[in-house]
Amino acid sequence: MREEGYNIAIAGATGAVGGAMLEVLERRNFPIKSLRLLASSRSVGKTLKFKGQDIAVELLDADAFAGIDIALFSAGAQRSLDFAPAAAKAGAIVVDNSSAYRMDKEIPLVVPEVNPHAIADLKNHGIIANPNCSTIQMMVALKPILDKAGIKRIVVSTYQAVSGSGNPAIDELKNQVQAYAKGEKMDAEVYPHQIAFNCLPHIDSFLDNGYTKEEMKMVNETRKIFEDDTIGVTATTVRVPVIYGHSEAVNIETKSKITAAEVKALMKNAEGVELVDNPANNEYPLAIHCVGKFATFVGRIREDESIENGINMWIVSDNIMKGAALNAVQIAEVLIKDHIK
Ligand code: NAP
Repeated sequence: MREEGYNIAIAGATGAVGGAMLEVLERRNFPIKSLRLLASSRSVGKTLKFKGQDIAVELLDADAFAGIDIALFSAGAQRSLDFAPAAAKAGAIVVDNSSAYRMDKEIPLVVPEVNPHAIADLKNHGIIANPNCSTIQMMVALKPILDKAGIKRIVVSTYQAVSGSGNPAIDELKNQVQAYAKGEKMDAEVYPHQIAFNCLPHIDSFLDNGYTKEEMKMVNETRKIFEDDTIGVTATTVRVPVIYGHSEAVNIETKSKITAAEVKALMKNAEGVELVDNPANNEYPLAIHCVGKFATFVGRIREDESIENGINMWIVSDNIMKGAALNAVQIAEVLIKDHIK
């Protein structure tokens, strides 16, 4: 590790995830020599706070990465396609939060608690992909079960917060709730329907097979991260009127028998997991309790009595933290520990 710290850039610094990246870098005391904050021309001239200091936002363009060691991208897939190769060419290692490179066979897709070894496989592209938020928290919770009992099939239903669609969606939910309270009309622009007091079984666009892109991300990313194309995965992803925190009902069929008690014991010791499973006291993971936290919370662990080797569980995490900013910063921490001289 370099004593003087590292030169870091955040592309998309003014967004929901970019803001969380600033917070996580500060909270984890990441060794920073210089910090460059990049966004669109709309934000140039604004300042953002880091460790009490104002830092001016600069324009995200191909020339913005000279001297940068690590570039954290969260400015949408198109900006990643446009500028991540230029950042890598300038010598930075890019950690990309968008979907642009996740399924590229040559780009590692990494959850540090699950497959940190994949980080080494840069193949000179200089880009590492951060998985989709709903995939990350599921991987963290399922990895110990995969190692202990093997996994044949996963059936997951998600209850995803509006912050997963960025700051404009947070504003839309708040505005609709206020309009409802005043008896006014609720406007919907980010989502095709009202999200306040509603559930939308529609995240990202629909594909020819009837699934949404978000659902297929969970299928394909799970197989890539677990390095096993034989695992059956099927997902239904639902947007709910929650601001922060994705919840997931996950049913797993394991290869060998594992009891609920054994899964609870695994979760107690799993890296990045916090077990909250005391139904007698009404204690189970809740979105409202995960906000701003780094852990993935697991509870409601019980055996699926309809099959021989089945487990049901409820997994909750802050989608902006572990689902995006924290996971990216953890990758950067591995990079400075093991890969960047
Ligand atoms: P957001 O709140 O809408 O922020 C978008 C960011 O991108 C802003 O900083 C914005 O800058 C910047 N940007 C947009 N257009 C740009 C352009 N033409 N040139 C330069 N910068 C531009 O969105 P978000 O939720 O933070 O998401 C950002 C990315 O992270 C997306 O790729 C998303 O898929 C991914 N991600 C999000 C989550 C999540 O839970 N929210 C989780 C995982 C991954 P301005 O402020 O200047 O417009």
